[in-house]
This record gives sequence, C-alpha cells and structure tokens, in this order.
Amino acid sequence: MHTPDLMEKVISLCKRRGFVFQSSEIYGGLNGVFDYGPLGVELKRNLKNAWWQAMIHHRDDVVGLDSGILMHSMVWKASGHADSFSDPFVKCPACSRHFRLDKVFEEIQTSPWFQALAKSMEKPQDAGFLLRWAKGPGKSLAPNLSLVKDPEVTFSYIADLHLAFKGATLKFEDFVRRLGSDDRGIAHTPCPNCGASLPDEGVAANLMLKTSLGPVEETAEKVYLRPETAQGIFVNFTNVLDSTHRKLPFGIAQTGKSFRNEVTTKNFIFRSREFEQMEIEYFCRPEQAEKFYQEWIETRFNWYLSLGLNQEKLRHRMHANDELAHYAAGCTDIEYLFPFGWSELEGIANRGDYDLKQHAKFSGKDLQYQDPVTNEKFYPHVIEPSGGCDRGTLAFLVDAYHEEVVKDSTRVVMKFHPKLAPIKVAVLPLLKKNDGIVALAKKIKSELQKDIVCVYDDSAAIGKLYRRQDEVGTVFCVTVDVQSLEDGQVTVRHRDTMLQERISVERLHQYLKERL
Ligand code: ATP
Repeated sequence: MHTPDLMEKVISLCKRRGFVFQSSEIYGGLNGVFDYGPLGVELKRNLKNAWWQAMIHHRDDVVGLDSGILMHSMVWKASGHADSFSDPFVKCPACSRHFRLDKVFEEIQTSPWFQALAKSMEKPQDAGFLLRWAKGPGKSLAPNLSLVKDPEVTFSYIADLHLAFKGATLKFEDFVRRLGSDDRGIAHTPCPNCGASLPDEGVAANLMLKTSLGPVEETAEKVYLRPETAQGIFVNFTNVLDSTHRKLPFGIAQTGKSFRNEVTTKNFIFRSREFEQMEIEYFCRPEQAEKFYQEWIETRFNWYLSLGLNQEKLRHRMHANDELAHYAAGCTDIEYLFPFGWSELEGIANRGDYDLKQHAKFSGKDLQYQDPVTNEKFYPHVIEPSGGCDRGTLAFLVDAYHEEVVKDSTRVVMKFHPKLAPIKVAVLPLLKKNDGIVALAKKIKSELQKDIVCVYDDSAAIGKLYRRQDEVGTVFCVTVDVQSLEDGQVTVRHRDTMLQERISVERLHQYLKERL
C-alpha cells in the first residue's frame, strides 16, 4: 500500500469508528489538539497500562509517581526550559505560515508542489522540463516559487550552476534552494506551502504554554503548563527516596499530560500541542550510567516488539555529538517507520547529574544521595527513557492496519496485539429474533464482561457484524446459534485467521482468558 494513502485510511477509520476526533470539531476544531473516542481511549489506556505493568509492576527497581501539571515557576528556570526551550521558526512573507527551521526541508519533501515535481521527474526528462513545469502545474501548486514567478531568469541561474557543477549529483537541499533562486541568482529556501522565499534566520519562541494561578488577574501568579513530565520526577527525588528507602539503582516513572506550543502540528496525533508522555528517570551510580543507558535502550526497544510492533519498522538512531545537550553523555531515539517517514517514538538519554544539580542549585536543598554503607554523598546519574503515548498509539494504529481480499471483497482488519485491542470479545446472536439465542448471548456477555472487555451486537447480519469487529481489532467473536441451545456450544471466530471453533459455554471463559 502506498504509505500516504495508509495515513489517510487510518485517520478516516479513527474518526468513523470512534478512535480519535479533532478537538472542538463543532466549532471548526482546535489546531493541534485531539480527543480520544470510546475505542481510542481504551487503546491508549491499554498502552499506558502495558507500560506501567512492564516498567513498574514487573520490576523491582522502579516506582510510580503522579505529579501535578502545574509547578513552581522556578522548576522551569532550573531545568533551563524558561530560557531556552524553543524551536527557531520562520514565517513565510507571502502566505504567513510558520515552519520550524530545522524541519523545513522535511516539510518541503511532503508538500504537494514538491511531490508533484518529484513525481514528474521520475521519468527521464529533457532540459526544458523545469520550465514547462513552472509554466504549467507549478502555477497553481507553488505560485510564489521564484522558478514559477520568473521562469526564464531563475532557470538560467539553475542552468548556469548546473554547468558549473558539471552535472554532479546535487544534495536535496541544494536542489530545492536553487528552485528558489532570486533575480540575482541567490538561492533561498522556498515555502513548503506557496514556494515564496523564506528568511534564512529563524526566530526563537518559547514552546511553553502559560496560565495564571489565583482569582485576580493583576496579582495572579504566572505559571506554565509542564512541557514534560520529567521535572516532576526530579523535584520529588528526595521525597521518594525518603519515603521508600530505595537504594541505587532505582527509577521513578510517571505518565501524564504535557503541553507544547509547537510551531507546526502535523501528521495527526504524532505532533500535537497537548499530549501524554510515559517517562522514567533511572538513578544510578555515575560509573554505572553507560551500562544502564545501553540496557534501557534494549529494554524499551523490546517493549515495543513485545506488543507486536513490526521489527522491520523499528530502529535505533544514535544522536550525533552536535545534537546532544551540553550535559548529556548520549541519546538514542527509537524510531518507527510512519507513513510519513522514520520518526521519533521515544528518546533514551544519558543525562549525567545535570538535573538534580540544577534543582539543588536553584532550590538551595541538598539533593544528593547518601550511600547507606559508606556514607559517601554524591549526585546520582540519570538515564531517561521518554516516550510519547500518542505517538505510540499512532504507531500501533498504522502497524495494525491490514487490508485483505476475502471472497472478492476487501476486509479491513486491525491486527492489534490482544493486550492492546480496545475490545477483546464480541458476543453476537446469529438470529436476533430468536429469544432463546438472544437470552443466551446476553447471559454469556454479562458473565464475560466481569473481567474481559466485551460487547454485544445484534444490529446486522453476522457477516457484517464480523467485518465491523475486524475493523476495530476485536480479538474474538463468539456467535450463538440454534445449535448452541441444544449442545451448549458456541462458535469462537479468531480475528486474524478467521478460523472458527466450537467451544462449550462452560469452557468459554477459560478458553478466552488463556488467549488474551
Ligand atoms: P521532536 O524532536 O519530535 O519534537 P523531542 O525530541 O522534542 O521530539 P522529547 O522532548 O524528547 O521530544 O519528548 C519525549 C517524547 O515525547 C518524544 O519521543 C515523543 O514521543 C513525545 N512528544 C514530544 N513532543 C510531542 C508532541 N508535540 N506531540 C506528541 N508527542 C510528543
């Protein structure tokens, strides 16, 4: 399947079946904010629960926390967010759209005008092709691109440069900037939306959202909505240490909402302004930091695999030295091949002792750890696996989407891992007008629902009911028919294989529990 097409299909399914809606849709929508519908909230909650279970309950060395979204403003001074949490952006002088300076070429690559240009370049072309494109489709797709506004002049600069470079293969960025060469031949980055020349320098804008605490506007205290959950963990380090008597190494984990005034929000729930994170701060002795950094990269990578994410679409990306924060000893992203390309799902950082030291400096409190045996005092080092719950949900949604041709018609099936599937079992009566069948189906459903998420549906013929459940990833369908009333058996249909088995009603609960 052509992947941009996949993204559209998943977005449409999400709305149609109640996974994800645009926020405040009846008022025209709020950009960069999404609401999770009845199925989406189950999926996302299952993801968070799977994380909590694997990262906290199944380990001996990590405890949970739930800190407030609002925190003292000094927290953000100490962490550096108040002064430097910004993404430089540029504003298009023609269409007024904003773009992140570091992401602008990525945006161009997926823009309609560049996609159209690239598509027509797939076939061998003569030298006049760019001119024809500029005078044809370019006019409506990128009306402000230099090549389109002034085709002959810009083209002559491109041709001159081409000669100067003797036809050497150009880097993507160089080629794109040449399309934006002005009337003096100076290359500019074109706007991904309209093609106009963008400024070379970006403007820094803080990404934190502000609000105020207190009833009277003038005296209210200005506070931020947290842009990450991590700082709530650092400021509670001694609280957790004193109340749990933990010894190094140990971790503190939390999930929760974070807010960022992102310059551009794109790709559905991948980048939004309100989102949820799943973060761990793992404290250890300095000399053990590298070992735990490597271990956490493996642990987090394997966690995604354990929930069925396609291994071929998952990879590590180690940050180059110039990408690292000045205090960090290393950072590795776990990336997933989304329909719009490889993108970060989670980052694992080896943060040294920066955060605790900063909070100690700004609060004046001693945040060191004292070794209970040697009494030695020091700042632990920290490994931070920091994942996005919404990005995770999107990865599992696109990974689960399958289309299969069955008896000449297309079956859409979401092959979620049973742990993640929003509905585990659907109980379906074969004949909704047969009182005996309906009564038995409802009885089975009410028994199962005590500890299995299940639904009852009799609103269509059985074939249609199966398709509807496949489309939302329901793991099993249990069908009650006339024979069930005689032999006490029901048909269990498996989502992925569509195989059907007869199972006795008595054994049904245990049968399903063993497979979910
Ligand atoms: P990016 O480079 O994509 O902006 P980041 O490196 O700034 O991400 P971190 O600050 O490391 O992200 O945040 C940790 C995790 O939180 C990310 O890996 C991602 O899963 C999630 N996350 C960050 N920003 C957003 C957002 N705007 N929308 C959804 N999830 C986000």
